[in-house]
Amino acid sequence: MNYKNENNILFFTIPIILLLFLTACNNEEEDGLCCSEYELSDLSEAYTLFSDNVTVYIDGQYVVYETNNLPDHKSPYWLTNNPLYEPYNGNNSNFKINPNRIMQQNIVVKIPSNPSEATNKESTPLGAIGISRNGVVFYNQYAGPNNTPLTNEINSFDQYFGHPQPQGAYHYHIEPTWLTTQYGKDAFLGFLADGFPVYGPEENGTTINNSNLDDYHGHSHATSEFSEGIYHYHITDQDPYINGDGFYGVKGSITN
Ligand SMILES: [Zn+2]
Ligand SMILES: [Zn+2]
Repeated sequence: MNYKNENNILFFTIPIILLLFLTACNNEEEDGLCCSEYELSDLSEAYTLFSDNVTVYIDGQYVVYETNNLPDHKSPYWLTNNPLYEPYNGNNSNFKINPNRIMQQNIVVKIPSNPSEATNKESTPLGAIGISRNGVVFYNQYAGPNNTPLTNEINSFDQYFGHPQPQGAYHYHIEPTWLTTQYGKDAFLGFLADGFPVYGPEENGTTINNSNLDDYHGHSHATSEFSEGIYHYHITDQDPYINGDGFYGVKGSITN
């Protein structure tokens, strides 16, 4: 680096910093909402709950979660030479293993750091719709390729109720019991792509069912991680399980 370049960097950097500072102040004055809907402290508490296979960082208005998507639990879908390989030992007598095996992914989930309700609610796509706290992605209530019901796929869910798709991406369509057994039935389990959190099937000792939730499968109140109150989804044991008629909020992006 030479002296002239350094000068140039300073020349451009200082006005940009000033501009950012002024913009931030203006926002605060205009709507009084700058940074208050999604406190940084809330954000850090929720993101520190993710396991080590997930890298979390802020990118502008987004929180980015990069995951290898490998489950931290046993499954008959690991290659048999993997230490986590375990034959099926669940309770479903109709269990039928699918031909896919767990493969490492590089999935990037980019969600709004300040989630907001969408005016037009967007349907969830096939494939990943969110990320759970052990880095495994959530899928919706349908099976590919034509949004058929999950009925037949359920028989291929392993002892922790996940399974891989043809490219080896492991995922949960229903309650990830590995997580709810460890952290509790009422625990924070992850986020959908719109930035709203996902919780387990119980709250204050009561089991949540679909009638307690809106069409998108959520409702609003304070939770342990969001003490000021937030819209959140609950996973129930009945279809549609995680999400109903689409994302409640404006979604970010998920790429693989
Ligand atoms: Zn599936
Ligand atoms: Zn709730």
